[in-house]
Amino acid sequence: MTMHSCAGEAPDGSDLQVAAAMFHSLSDPSRLAILQHLTLGEHRVRDLTEHLGLAQSTVSAHLACLRECGLVVSRPQGRASVFSLVSAPELLAVLATAERLLETTGHGVALCPNYGVGTTVNPAPEALRVHASVGALR
Ligand SMILES: [Zn+2]
Repeated sequence: MTMHSCAGEAPDGSDLQVAAAMFHSLSDPSRLAILQHLTLGEHRVRDLTEHLGLAQSTVSAHLACLRECGLVVSRPQGRASVFSLVSAPELLAVLATAERLLETTGHGVALCPNYGVGTTVNPAPEALRVHASVGALR
């Protein structure tokens, strides 16, 4: 990897904010499960509820959000709606890359006191807690 010099650059960060919003939309285990399952093919809400063991209200709410985000689309089928991914190859590539990154970094993110498994808030920079393993070295 080459070093990058930032001389004279002042990015407005809007692209990064959109990227962060996209990762935020992927930052819920239920939403990820729904998206991952939709890579198998289109599903009705009821199918997803049964196949994933999630409550119907959970599936419906997340699907509505994912549709507004443009990650899934729906089409009517009788009285139900059938949901499918807008772009399965790209989503699969993101998920596969995320898995490789997790392997490369030893899944340390799971233990992150700020963003790790079981955390529910999005702390401000000044509120970030030191990782336990790092704290032990100080
Ligand atoms: Zn299924």
